[in-house]
Amino acid sequence: MKHAQATLVLVKPDGLKKSLTGNILTRLSETKLEIAAAKVVKVSKELAEEHYCHLKDKPFFAELIKYIQGELHNRKKVLAMVYWGNDAIDKVRQLAGATNPEEAESTSIRGSFGRITTRGLYENVIHASTNENEAEREIKLWFGPDEIIVDLYPTEIKEEKLKRKVWA
Ligand code: UDP
Ligand code: MG
Repeated sequence: MKHAQATLVLVKPDGLKKSLTGNILTRLSETKLEIAAAKVVKVSKELAEEHYCHLKDKPFFAELIKYIQGELHNRKKVLAMVYWGNDAIDKVRQLAGATNPEEAESTSIRGSFGRITTRGLYENVIHASTNENEAEREIKLWFGPDEIIVDLYPTEIKEEKLKRKVWA
């Protein structure tokens, strides 16, 4: 179906370490989608486990959590973005390529830059949501409504008296 969608894209720690950010953004710009949000995130164990909760029973789960937290690459961050526009989810997945970098089309991002580690983990450089439900869950997990420049999902106002860090 061709309608405006949002999708979560992460440049994973291997992508950052291999200095691929510019290349990946250039590839993604071919889609003509809009960047609706972007930030660099230091990924906590909780965020990592929640993001990959559907894989918690897999034998590679512990390694995957270390991977997305940057512990395998000494790069403890990811670049998180929301891309927005017509058919965004499939367009980005198409550019990303298959999960297994050896099976991914060779000109795709994962096919070009991914690898399989000697421990069997797919280091595939980027994450991209696979469907609308997953995209909504993931975007709400990684971003608050004020960090996204389009109104994607319903919001509410919560009154909170919290201490927060401001510029001194
Ligand atoms: N992964 C892996 N081995 C597998 C399946 C997945 O190492 O057999 C890793 C890989 O980094 C992948 C991530 O776990 O990107 C999430 O898996 P998922 O099945 O959601 O694939 P994706 O949606 O990222 O293509
Ligand atoms: Mg997935």
